Amino acid sequence: MKTRAAVAFEAKRPLEIVEVDLEEPRAFEVLIEIKATGICHTDAYTLDGLDSEGIFPSILGHEGAGVVVEVGDRLVERLEAHAGMRFDDLG
Ligand SMILES: [Zn+2]
Repeated sequence: MKTRAAVAFEAKRPLEIVEVDLEEPRAFEVLIEIKATGICHTDAYTLDGLDSEGIFPSILGHEGAGVVVEVGDRLVERLEAHAGMRFDDLG
């Protein structure tokens, strides 16, 4: 699917809002529709070019809040294993 993201193309440059491709969630992943996010200290450190492990282009803002809109096809199986019950049992 297509979505928009604030992308850091290189250090010390303003973020650019661009359209990006987003894959469907893999087996144990979730897709979250982000409602709010921010740039944390680690993101700022990367954006300033001080993080030797920082790579560009990069989509910053990994500390966010949102709504799960899709789950990977094996995630429910793993949750059931940890919970000790099937989610079907919940009604
Ligand atoms: Zn962070």
